[in-house]
Amino acid sequence: MAVAADTDAYPQAVIDEFKLLADECSICYQCGTCTSSCPSGRELYRGPRRLVRLILAGEIEAVLKSDDLWRCTECGTCTEVCRMDIDVAAVLSRLRKIEREHGGAISCPERTAADVAAARLRRHPRIDNMQFGVAMMAKGHFPKDKVGAAETGIKIAKQMLPRRRKRPAGEAGPASEGVATLPFYAGCALPQDHELHALVHEVAAGFGVRLDEAADAGCCGHPSRGAVASHYASAERVYTACPACDASLEEAGVEAVPLWDALTARAGRSPAMALRAAAPAFVPYVGCLADRDAALAALGEAAEQAGVTMEVDYPTLHNGCCGALGGMYRGATKAGARLLEFAAEKHAPVVTTCVLCRDNLHSAARELKIDVPVHFWPEFFRAEEHVSEERTDD
Ligand code: SF4
Ligand code: SF4
Repeated sequence: MAVAADTDAYPQAVIDEFKLLADECSICYQCGTCTSSCPSGRELYRGPRRLVRLILAGEIEAVLKSDDLWRCTECGTCTEVCRMDIDVAAVLSRLRKIEREHGGAISCPERTAADVAAARLRRHPRIDNMQFGVAMMAKGHFPKDKVGAAETGIKIAKQMLPRRRKRPAGEAGPASEGVATLPFYAGCALPQDHELHALVHEVAAGFGVRLDEAADAGCCGHPSRGAVASHYASAERVYTACPACDASLEEAGVEAVPLWDALTARAGRSPAMALRAAAPAFVPYVGCLADRDAALAALGEAAEQAGVTMEVDYPTLHNGCCGALGGMYRGATKAGARLLEFAAEKHAPVVTTCVLCRDNLHSAARELKIDVPVHFWPEFFRAEEHVSEERTDD
């Protein structure tokens, strides 16, 4: 396939790579399924279909200047749905690599965040939220939710004061099930919220699970958008608390399972344990990086066991971007706003499996003045000892 237009300004290596991309995309018939299935679609200018069309038209500059390249979360949905078997997500990933090396013109928050994260991860094992936020502001990207940013800053500063950290041991749980020890990969975001981190251990302990956390696990690499791979390796299955970690670890060849799925399954198996929910109904939100169908099915199973209603509208509502792309709250996304409005109509809290989504949807609710609580999974579900409904009459 010829790449005719717009070639003088780029080195031969870029032109050659565009020719390869155009060859791989030549069977695209512009059906648009990739764009209509993209969970970040509402936030993109035109989506992956347009980028493929621009590649075929040889419009190198237009491709490399598109913010859409960096608003893509690498979830892989477009690849899964393409009927022509084009690996659309990989095409976008290769375009980001070219843009990094030869473009450099985009200064959108998403690209800046990927670069800030990559620079940090080359020197440190983890992203530090406070330093990340300062670096982003130094580059002109300010969080939209100032109150939320201040609250986070105060919380992190308080956590830095010396004190003994409480982490509940995993000795609780119904005796009949015994205590299981699961290898746990906590990622970046959770360990920075000490209270929530401790709650995860406490809730797991309620299910009779002790979480064995790899202290040197570090960041999964996702925020760097492919520039820094995860350095974590494990031959055994690990349990996670973050959909970004699931995706990145899978890419690194590590089998990762959401902890919540394991806790739900454990409660389902145990006659001595019941799953309890904090409200009679909830709206699920699985984030844009999770395997949507599997994540919704797992939350549905938890709802069924707890005897509560999971309010599901059309499925894409539950995994549009929360606004965290760019690593900080960049304002309510169209998808986030619709989800919160839906939850308000249902008078139900939102329950999510991602810490960043919880914080960003909380910011969105404040910004939009929508009074809807947003909970992380362990803030909503927990185990209780099963009380038999059989009664003996006196
Ligand atoms: S789904 Fe595949 S064939 Fe359809 S527009 Fe996207 S890349 Fe082209
Ligand atoms: S990888 Fe996911 S976010 Fe990126 S374009 Fe494809 S569907 Fe959209």
